[in-house]
Amino acid sequence: MPKYKPGDLVGIETKDRKYTGILMERPELSGDNYLVIKLESGYNIGISLDRIKKIKKIGTGVKREKFKLKKHKKDSSKKDISILATGGTIASRVDYITGGVHSAFSAEDLISAVPELGEIANIHGKQIFNKFSENIVPRDWIKLAKATEKEIKKGVNGIVITHGTDTLGYTSAALAFMLKTPVPVVLTGAQRSSDRGSSDASLNLIHSAIVAARGNFSEVVVVMHGETSDSFSLIHPATRVRKLHSSRRDAFQTINSKPNGRVSMNSIEFFKEAKLAKELRLDTKLEEQVFLLKYFPGLNPKVIDDLVKTGYKGIVIGGTGLGHTSDLLFEKIKDAIESGISIAMTSQTIFGRVNMNVYSTGRILQDIGVIPCEDMLSETAYVKLMWILGQTKNPEKVREMMLTNYAGEITERSDI
Ligand code: GLU
Repeated sequence: MPKYKPGDLVGIETKDRKYTGILMERPELSGDNYLVIKLESGYNIGISLDRIKKIKKIGTGVKREKFKLKKHKKDSSKKDISILATGGTIASRVDYITGGVHSAFSAEDLISAVPELGEIANIHGKQIFNKFSENIVPRDWIKLAKATEKEIKKGVNGIVITHGTDTLGYTSAALAFMLKTPVPVVLTGAQRSSDRGSSDASLNLIHSAIVAARGNFSEVVVVMHGETSDSFSLIHPATRVRKLHSSRRDAFQTINSKPNGRVSMNSIEFFKEAKLAKELRLDTKLEEQVFLLKYFPGLNPKVIDDLVKTGYKGIVIGGTGLGHTSDLLFEKIKDAIESGISIAMTSQTIFGRVNMNVYSTGRILQDIGVIPCEDMLSETAYVKLMWILGQTKNPEKVREMMLTNYAGEITERSDI
């Protein structure tokens, strides 16, 4: 292997196929049993060394500049979409010294690495920030919402936002509450980085671009792999989607509802009536002092006092079962509510809805003033409470707004 350097254009012959591509830089080259090449189509594939009969160098040192965005000629028969990059694995590559994964590709890199995008639409790209999504803070949601509004005002037909998967569901919910959009706004990410043979980055991006360009709806959605192979992606409602697996390509699922639809290379199919609107409106005021508290047996009730003292204005509890906490907390919760803090209850079961009328625990918590959040995800309720408290601190108004469905986050009835 030492004869070949990352960036070399190589011809590889296996027992059954021939490949030509650029040898990708990766630590596995030194020890592991396979190599990765980038094919002309832009896809990366891994080839096991045992399968390789012949390898020859065809060209030397292709520089990364080769992948820089070439100006796409505008094709008036195609829709226009903007790809806004925020970081995450979808824009990551391996650091060959530490072996860690770092955000590295700009929006231009992404587009150039996935040439199919140019066939789907006229692509405009912009990097909004470059963060792993665990580092994203609520102010970044605001920045992103403003950038999205700005792109929509330019007249594009749809937006794709590339994002780390870890906190993608929080950002999608935040955008859904803050932004009324007349065009599709599609968030997507990748579980495996673009320089891995098993990467889901290209396909998620392509499917998202198809949805943004051809989807006839006015909503924020998340598009991610629908199963482990590359056959289709699901279109998830922004306030209902959750990452349910740390590594699978089909980690994202719609919770307590069904996906809006699914997309493959040749089709988009919708399972629900699409939301259609003309209005573009931005409402980015957020109260950042909201706490998301997962109840657990043994939780020290004094934590509630501490949260009040720290200055929190709202608390969303991920309670047990139908929406419960230990009775040891009741007194502290009551004091907090009396001091003006809004406290809302979701269930840590993830699936299902809270019902605080069934057991005395739930009834007492309701009497104290806890707001039952129906079938809302805890993360969505957390973002929603921030957004509501950004607009009003009136406890009755907060309750009324928490129980109003603004962005598909509540359904009146659950099908079991
Ligand atoms: N933890 C990083 C993030 O959420 C990388 C994981 C990913 O993108 O899937 O941005």
